[in-house]
Amino acid sequence: MHTEEVNQIGLRASVKLLSRFWRFVRPYKGKFFLTLCLVLLAVPLGQFALFLTRDITNRALTATGLTPEERWATVLHIVGLQIAFYLASASLSTWREVLEWYGGMRSTFDLRMVFYRHLHRLPLSFLNKRAPGEHLFRSTTDMVSMFLVKGRVAVPGAAGQAPPDSKEVAMTAYSNDVDPYDPGVMGMIVRTMPMLLETVYGLAWGAALLFLIDPILSLCLIAYIIPFTYFSNRMYNRIRVSAFLYKAATENEIAVLRDTLAGMRTVKSFGRLRRQLGKYSHAASEAKRRGIQQMAEMLLTQNVLQMGMKWTFSMGIYLYVTLRVMRGDATIGDWVATFLLIEAAQAPLENFVQLLQLIRMQLVPAQRILETLDVQPTLQDKPGAAKLPALSGSVEFRAVDFSYEPSRKALDGLNLRIEAGEYVGIVGPSGAGKSSLLALMLRLYAPDSGQVLVDGHDVGEIKLQTLLDQTGTVPQTTHLYSGTIAENILFGNPRATWAELEEATRLAGMTEFLARLPRGVDTEIGEAGSISGGERQRIGIARAMIRDPKILILDEATASLDPVTEEAVLRSVDQLRRDRTVLAVAHRLKAVMQCNRIVVMEAGRAVQVGTHTELVAQEGLYRTLWNEQMRDSASTDERVGGKA
Ligand code: ATP
Repeated sequence: MHTEEVNQIGLRASVKLLSRFWRFVRPYKGKFFLTLCLVLLAVPLGQFALFLTRDITNRALTATGLTPEERWATVLHIVGLQIAFYLASASLSTWREVLEWYGGMRSTFDLRMVFYRHLHRLPLSFLNKRAPGEHLFRSTTDMVSMFLVKGRVAVPGAAGQAPPDSKEVAMTAYSNDVDPYDPGVMGMIVRTMPMLLETVYGLAWGAALLFLIDPILSLCLIAYIIPFTYFSNRMYNRIRVSAFLYKAATENEIAVLRDTLAGMRTVKSFGRLRRQLGKYSHAASEAKRRGIQQMAEMLLTQNVLQMGMKWTFSMGIYLYVTLRVMRGDATIGDWVATFLLIEAAQAPLENFVQLLQLIRMQLVPAQRILETLDVQPTLQDKPGAAKLPALSGSVEFRAVDFSYEPSRKALDGLNLRIEAGEYVGIVGPSGAGKSSLLALMLRLYAPDSGQVLVDGHDVGEIKLQTLLDQTGTVPQTTHLYSGTIAENILFGNPRATWAELEEATRLAGMTEFLARLPRGVDTEIGEAGSISGGERQRIGIARAMIRDPKILILDEATASLDPVTEEAVLRSVDQLRRDRTVLAVAHRLKAVMQCNRIVVMEAGRAVQVGTHTELVAQEGLYRTLWNEQMRDSASTDERVGGKA
């Protein structure tokens, strides 16, 4: 979010934006409208209860000519009514709260599920471009605090609610942490909106009851609302910007701290402690400055502007009504009821501004969620796409052209046929198109022209899941999820048996590693100590193998390993080859020497194909790469040997 974004969504755009979320409320619309009806009932009941103090004063306390019994009977009668009104208002409010929670939780859950499902169907081109940027992750975190309201803004007069504390609302609305009062996007509709209605409606009832006492009082209240709302809103707009800047500054401070801690070894070995300290002190003092600015603006708004206006208004009314009572134009009951009603109107007035602000703040994440939801999923199965039968494992690229950006081809008329059961290495310089070739095979992208065929089936025409079910991929770095080693391997095939799990770990060469762990495959990833690169890759291989894939893809699977571990992992791979097609993308040619065939890629084309021996014997790119890599490893060996 940028500073301009904090204040920028206009009224019409806001309404349009909110209406887009209506589909998540629609299944619960009956309950939602019932919530609004309950607000409409509860507020006047609470206000009437307040108004009845006028009757107690006039008809029982200050009335003359009554016997004590009559006085007592009147008090009992009116207090009884007040209690009944309060109880009714409190019950309706509680009922309403239950409905709000129900609707909020359910609609938030629905939105989360739609969003999560959508994330998985997004094209990789979007994820690659946007993931490092803010929108995807921001909208993801926006989903997290979607409906966490535990407090509520109170409208005095509507009984059974928390006492009004607009300061608390303000503080939570602008705090930096995940905000327990933050109603989130759905909460904004099913909870904040009814609160807003409650506030406005409460003020309207307050003005109406004051009108019964004296129309001028009612006019004064309305006249007071306008400047109060206008100036408070302006101030809160400023606070919102400074709160945003404060948040950004503290995030930056934490980022510097995290950076330093993560790179402590580098900081120490380069003797850069003072530089890092300077960096941190700069970030921390910026956060402090922004924090003070935000707090100063908050105090100015709440303690000077709002309190000042409130006191001036209350004192004016106090003088006016007192004078009227002294002149005999108003009763003591009017005097008492006026103060209760005026006092009761102050809190909703402050809350009104807070709620407007809260809604505006919530519109930004709402917009971001929609931005992500609006990205069209591509590469979905075509209607009536056929299931892929059990594969034998041949793969063919027929005149495939593909580019990420129009100006540059990643694959340029690629023709390549890989037979079932072959072990094929794919090599070439950086940017040659090796990863793109694999991505197209797994239909992560679609070719611009040409065809990618698996067992003669165009991958664009089949049910993708039936292809993925028969392939296994080992990436350059295996991602480990929290949980046990077994759970991580079973991620590849949750329905695998214990025997299959054991077989997969054996094939992946994990036996020794597991024997060292007291709880073997049941060891939690966190408990296994630091898992080395080789062990991690072996878990990745086991995860792929437990699928018993017909096509095994090794995407730089050994690139991050030292030569000895690489060799051990490659020996495991060699064992897995039976009845499978293996495609191994590698930079280091030693990793593919044992392949049946090696495809050399350059500028999106397969420029050479052959065995290692054939290719080394030929003039061409492979021999150049081989010679370079041999020279490099010889000089490394020499340096290491020299040092030793
Ligand atoms: P490396 O060995 O460095 O991983 P590679 O041979 O696997 O390279 P690819 O990753 O397939 O090559 O890239 C082929 C071309 O496509 C390169 O020019 C690369 O810059 C470009 N490219 C790859 N991924 C993207 C992307 N997500 N967006 C834009 N261009 C991309």
